[in-house]
Amino acid sequence: MSSSTDIIVVGGGMVGAAAACALGQQGFRVLLLEQKEPDCSWPREGYDIRVSAISRASRNIFLHLRAWEAMQARRVTPYERMVVWESGGAEIRFDAAELGEPELGHIIENSVIQCSLWERMAQESRVKVRTGVTIISLHLDEENPGLTLEGGETLEAELIVAADGARSTLRELAGIPVSGWGYDQSALVCTVKAEKGNQATAWQRFMPDGPLALLPLKTERFSIVWSTSPQEASHLVGLPEEAFDEAITRASEARLGQLTLEGERSIYPLRLQHANRYIKPGLALIGDAAHVIHPLAGQGVNLGLLDMAELVDVLVQARNRQRPLGMELTLRKYERARKGENLAMQGAMDLIKRLFSNDIPPVKLARNLGLELADRITPVKNLLVRNAMGTQGTLPSLAQPPTG
Ligand SMILES: Cc1cc2nc3c(=O)[nH]c(=O)nc-3n(C[C@H](O)[C@H](O)[C@H](O)COP(=O)(O)OP(=O)(O)OC[C@H]3O[C@@H](n4cnc5c(N)ncnc54)[C@H](O)[C@@H]3O)c2cc1C
Repeated sequence: MSSSTDIIVVGGGMVGAAAACALGQQGFRVLLLEQKEPDCSWPREGYDIRVSAISRASRNIFLHLRAWEAMQARRVTPYERMVVWESGGAEIRFDAAELGEPELGHIIENSVIQCSLWERMAQESRVKVRTGVTIISLHLDEENPGLTLEGGETLEAELIVAADGARSTLRELAGIPVSGWGYDQSALVCTVKAEKGNQATAWQRFMPDGPLALLPLKTERFSIVWSTSPQEASHLVGLPEEAFDEAITRASEARLGQLTLEGERSIYPLRLQHANRYIKPGLALIGDAAHVIHPLAGQGVNLGLLDMAELVDVLVQARNRQRPLGMELTLRKYERARKGENLAMQGAMDLIKRLFSNDIPPVKLARNLGLELADRITPVKNLLVRNAMGTQGTLPSLAQPPTG
């Protein structure tokens, strides 16, 4: 039993680690529980196979958490342009310069984000971290929620935050159901070297089986997220390297010249998933524990970080009003603020995925017209890109640009 903790955060991935840093920075006493400690050895030879396209709003969060500098010191790649196209069809181009912005976003390896946040957690005296834990039961109420670890130890706090990912144990122990479906698609991820260099541009080609994204890394490398049928993904992952190089170069229509695989290939089955509730008395779900979306617009962790930032605002307000942090009334504010936005983004990604997997001629014509029109009408284009940058609408405090 621990009475010295205000908030227990379960899961030290990108979202949970950011939550622990932010809550500690706001003066809450935090205990972060993580199953396995991340490998943060640095420098590294190759690139992490998992990367994220980080929006402006997420970068603001990292700046507020004083983790951005550590990320930059490792590796972050800004991209200034984005090209989205369909073979034999329309194309839309976004350019930061047209918006008067230095870049559209950054591509960052997941391990760089996570390890920089872990470094910050270690500097925050109010944040304690325990790794190698297994949670076996959960007790929820508004005043003293708690959980029991394997071995029988009980931990209590005012609030438990579940940031334990798509297969959240806490969500299951709390009996919160999820809705969703498998996409019958898998994402093949890997790193490639491109003959024509990275050109500070992110590329996405829509194909009938799913989108192929080429996300620029430093120098001439790209991180590949190739969504396709599970059968095709297994076939591609098993191809000899030279044959794979040909397949990926062909799929990218050689826009970046010859592509050459570097390192391993890995497959992630894709699904849409949404928790029916984000909260219960004494419990809040954030990040993938609450929602999983198609990676085609690279928004998953960006949404999770916004959940975290919104929850921090709500908890600071509750403390100022001397309300218990785990009160359902308090937590409902968080759920109201985030659920609609996450569902809207999830729905939009689902619609785009379906629209582009459809080869019925009128649908193909409509989407080509749509892309062409969007490319020509500057306000529509700007709106699309501002949305992707996460600078549209009302943002929680941590996602707003830092002043001074
Ligand atoms: C192929 C692919 C590409 C993607 N690209 C992008 C992108 O470009 N941009 C973007 O924004 N998003 C992207 N995403 C989505 C993004 O990766 C996820 O949204 C993000 O990783 C979720 O972070 P999280 O911290 O919520 O969960 P996770 O990353 O799953 O972290 C959960 C953490 O909890 C720990 N944990 C789990 N269970 C327990 C337990 N019982 N006790 C203690 N600890 C536990 C785990 O060890 C882990 O550290 C992509 C996803 C995929 C599949």
